Amino acid sequence: MSDNVGNICEEMFRLRLKEWSAEEEFPDLSQHNNLMAKHLTLDMYSQLRERVTPRGFTLNQVIQPGVDNPGHPFIMTVGCVAGDEETYEVFKELLDPVIEDRHGGYKPADKHKTDLNPDNLKGGDDLDPNYVLSSRVRTGRSIRGFCLPPHCSRGERRMVEKLSNEALDSLTGDLKGKYYALKNMTDAEQQQLIDDHFLFDKPVSPLLLASGMARDWPDARGIWHNDNKTFLVWVNEEDHLRVISMQKGGNMKEVFNRFCTGLTKIESLFKEKGHEFMWNEHLGYVLTCPSNLGTGLRAGVHMKLPNMSKHAKFEEVLKRLRLQKRGTGGVDTAAVGGVFDISNADRLGFSEVELVQMVVDGVKLLTEMEKRLEKGQSIDDLMPAQK
Ligand code: ADP
Ligand code: MG
Repeated sequence: MSDNVGNICEEMFRLRLKEWSAEEEFPDLSQHNNLMAKHLTLDMYSQLRERVTPRGFTLNQVIQPGVDNPGHPFIMTVGCVAGDEETYEVFKELLDPVIEDRHGGYKPADKHKTDLNPDNLKGGDDLDPNYVLSSRVRTGRSIRGFCLPPHCSRGERRMVEKLSNEALDSLTGDLKGKYYALKNMTDAEQQQLIDDHFLFDKPVSPLLLASGMARDWPDARGIWHNDNKTFLVWVNEEDHLRVISMQKGGNMKEVFNRFCTGLTKIESLFKEKGHEFMWNEHLGYVLTCPSNLGTGLRAGVHMKLPNMSKHAKFEEVLKRLRLQKRGTGGVDTAAVGGVFDISNADRLGFSEVELVQMVVDGVKLLTEMEKRLEKGQSIDDLMPAQK
């Protein structure tokens, strides 16, 4: 954008601010139950609405997903998104308390730790495959200098796709794979990948729609994967990159090994071309959704819990183990037939290894509890302490 156009935009933005007062513009959040709605006050709105990031992201864009989606049936959503790396700094009066609330008291001065050494994981190759159907670890990564999906332009998005292709094309051995652009896929091919749990859903999620992330769909979106679909990279869905390692059964150790190796290689391939991932000491890896900051890591299993999920203490056990549940069709779905997606609830303030360890240990305990309940026995003596 030329300076001239930039100045005119800025001026129009200021004029609109004068035209309508903060009271007149403040969203009606009276029926809302998300973290944005909890922390955004009229005073804060009034102060922050005058700000704009260097790449042009505004407060209204930050909060739109939470305004349009009052609540969620299964999880407490954060209700806001970032449009660029600077969003977290420019709107910190709102985002700091949201982050603190979402990430277990994580304070503005806290420092985040990264540990992508899979040798530090204890066990994890032995989750019971009679209960654990599949294991998966994913994270997101953002390329510094580009706006994030809620705010990027078409050209920017296509450049992210091009750079990702160049980097991923250089992977070798087990990790060698191919990119499949969404727009070159038939509907049936796309649906098959979704049904097999490899690909992100079509842009039907209200959060995706309200944030602006689904603009221009399917342009510059796609999936890269190796031949046996155990290492996959989503391009330009909620984050620039989503890196996924997964396989059937309960060998989380192998999944995490592949995840760390692949991810580290991708990062160095980007660096060779002069591109860094967005990262800082406080927030760790910077991603679109504040809920994913830090590690961006979600390690999870699809597991059978037909008895445990009906037990009165199920929610309490998950909370104590710092785990969360989802349906197996993704974040917006309910569990079918007693099979749940069980994963770490935290992203920030714990290292990658620590989070995977929580899942490994927690899933083992849940399996033991499920076996007890199958036999009609009590699980009282297995209740864990709060982690
Ligand atoms: P994400 O955290 O990656 O955004 P979603 O809940 O949106 O996860 O799910 C994305 C897709 O990944 C869905 O098709 C879901 O079924 C699949 N998935 C998630 N966890 C697992 C798992 N442990 N095993 C198999 N598929 C999974
Ligand atoms: Mg998702």
